[in-house]
Amino acid sequence: GTETDNSEYFTSYEDLDVHKIMLEDKPRNLAYKKAILENKDYFKDKIVMDVGCGTGILSIYCAQAGAKKVYAVEASNIAKLAKLVVKENGFENVIEVIQSKVENLTLPGNIKVDAIVSEWMGFYLLHEGMLDSVLYARDKFLKDNGQMFPDSAVIYVAPCSVPTLYNKWDDVDGVSMKVFAKHLRKSKHSKPEIISMNPEDLLGHEITLSWVNLKDDELSDLDSISIQHVVGANKDGLYQGLCIWFVCKFPDFSCTEDEESQYVLDTSPKSPVTHWKQTVIVLPEELEVEEGEPIAFQLDMEKDRFSRRRYNLQMTLLDPNAIEHPQPCSCDMTKC
Ligand code: SAH
Repeated sequence: GTETDNSEYFTSYEDLDVHKIMLEDKPRNLAYKKAILENKDYFKDKIVMDVGCGTGILSIYCAQAGAKKVYAVEASNIAKLAKLVVKENGFENVIEVIQSKVENLTLPGNIKVDAIVSEWMGFYLLHEGMLDSVLYARDKFLKDNGQMFPDSAVIYVAPCSVPTLYNKWDDVDGVSMKVFAKHLRKSKHSKPEIISMNPEDLLGHEITLSWVNLKDDELSDLDSISIQHVVGANKDGLYQGLCIWFVCKFPDFSCTEDEESQYVLDTSPKSPVTHWKQTVIVLPEELEVEEGEPIAFQLDMEKDRFSRRRYNLQMTLLDPNAIEHPQPCSCDMTKC
């Protein structure tokens, strides 16, 4: 990415409305709050870094959980406001707001932190996201046995109907707009739609598109993600697109090894809606499917060559008989 890219990116975070949207996203806030405040035994006396602290909300959760020191790092001018919010909450002795890109930061005495907290997720997890900065911070500042909050993320995809783009155009207050809708859908095929999907509009089981392990993954692991898959339609319906969402998981120090963490941020259509909603790639033409019928598709996610914050999504319809796994499959593996 160029410097121009970046300065535009950071000025967008000086817009208070952007932070308002995040602060009003209850499932988002509460997932972090729970993961931090219900892990008080862990946070007590720890040194934490909040990568991209914004208004400071996550740093304050860490301070409330008993952290000894929080480095709240924020590149944009919202850092100035974060300082005031920290004061408003009485944590100026614990939280140090530092206005800097995390990539340009050095801590006194090359100190390392016990935990990194960050809300870095973009649409469909990776788009316009800041995962690269979080992984950079991990490699430079996290102790060997340190923890990441969240520590993993999974991207899911499922076939779906998209009634908002397909079903209401026969009669727009007395005028047929089918040809308009067709062009609209065509434009959405290359530029995915961010909408809140009704869970009833999912036509098949979700499958894992990608699994990100925040503790171990390298950035290059995420340059290009591609799957071919077949799912069985779970009902009769109109296959009109692919719905993509993500789930983040946080460390859970209360549960035993083989138990799933209870600390999750789930942006699925079945969960309360977040500001990420869901991402839908629309098919230019719908396909009628019957229950049990195999739906095959290929999805490619490729990091943009010119703007490293962007991903390009490409969906290809496949003939279910032409790919290796002809049976409808509902397992969770990327390559089963
Ligand atoms: N933690 C806040 C804000 C999350 S939005 C909250 O949960 O409400 C992400 C923030 O990270 C933005 O304010 C953005 O300016 C900041 N950011 C993104 N990349 C960064 C980087 N490389 N260094 C420092 N801050 C960064």
